[in-house]
Amino acid sequence: MSKKRVTSGMRPTGSMHLGNLLGALDNWVRLQDEYECFFFIVDWHALTTPGGGDAVGYENLGDLRNRVREIAIDWVSAGLDPDKCSIFIQSHVPEVAELHLLFSMITPLGWLERNPAYKDMVQSYKIESPSYGLLGYPTLQAADILIYKGDFVPVGKDQVAHVNMTRDLGQRFNSLYGKKVFPITEALLTEVPRVPGLDGIENKMSKSSGNYIALSDSAEDTTKKIRTMFTDPVKIRKDDPGHPDGCVVYAFHDIYNVGELETIRKECESGARGCVSCKMELAEKMNNKLEPVRARREELVANPGMISEILRAGAVKAEGIARETLKEVREVMNLPARESLDV
Ligand code: ATP
Ligand code: MG
Repeated sequence: MSKKRVTSGMRPTGSMHLGNLLGALDNWVRLQDEYECFFFIVDWHALTTPGGGDAVGYENLGDLRNRVREIAIDWVSAGLDPDKCSIFIQSHVPEVAELHLLFSMITPLGWLERNPAYKDMVQSYKIESPSYGLLGYPTLQAADILIYKGDFVPVGKDQVAHVNMTRDLGQRFNSLYGKKVFPITEALLTEVPRVPGLDGIENKMSKSSGNYIALSDSAEDTTKKIRTMFTDPVKIRKDDPGHPDGCVVYAFHDIYNVGELETIRKECESGARGCVSCKMELAEKMNNKLEPVRARREELVANPGMISEILRAGAVKAEGIARETLKEVREVMNLPARESLDV
């Protein structure tokens, strides 16, 4: 039996950070062994928001091209293997845009207007005049997934609604045109850690907040950033008793130094452990763990042709499948065949 398909994308709005690595990429790396995976950098989706400051968007194209490449480099450095999965750029498969157009004809406006993620984005990016493209974000996402007939989309609980809309749109298409062109796409729920920002346990590490350690940061940068991590505000002197539960450094020990966790808690709570040495211990563990990722990154940066070839091969495979799907779609929608135009 052929493998089920997994599809997922990320917006190239900034650098990949530890939140993206632990919360998504590590999981993708596991999935590539079990599923036929399509991972794409959604450059069109980056243009649904205006951007500004450091963030890329339609008003602030910045170094979009370069960021897309950087993300591809980060993905491969993190362990995505182009021999096991397809890695490519969304806009390199223009068939997605045609499917998006056709889907837009059958997407009820109410579905888009009720989408809580739309309201969140308008609020969090303080968008005064949301665009047609932003409202249609989930329709483009559905086209991204369904053009490859994605069975599963790996997401956290908060994103299940998105996947449900893709599923519903696929099913709506199938029932309108009386043919099961699209599979019933499902969320592949995975327990992943929620990685806090450097600035506080309550905050999520995120590109837009700038409170992150990037995969492209050197060991020295990482150590510097760990030094700035938010610790226990009431632990002022080295031997004051601390409160690990509100401490970002402790949260990262829980990821990178699990074996020592109990000792760290005891020492911190009793006042035997100072924050500076606690941070240095974390820096060592984290840097050790990130060492292979950085080594692969260096190799890719030194050989720009490698990443171009990975992205090319990924797009060729993806486009082959996309063309087949689109042919089927055009057929069931009774659009005139265009085979005679193909060269
Ligand atoms: P933005 O600030 O633009 O929202 P982001 O840094 O939050 O960017 P996303 O592009 O929203 O990153 O997310 C990409 C993937 O990384 C998603 O699967 C998301 O769940 C995961 N992710 C992002 N930040 C974290 C985090 N702090 N902890 C765990 N997972 C995360
Ligand atoms: Mg986010």
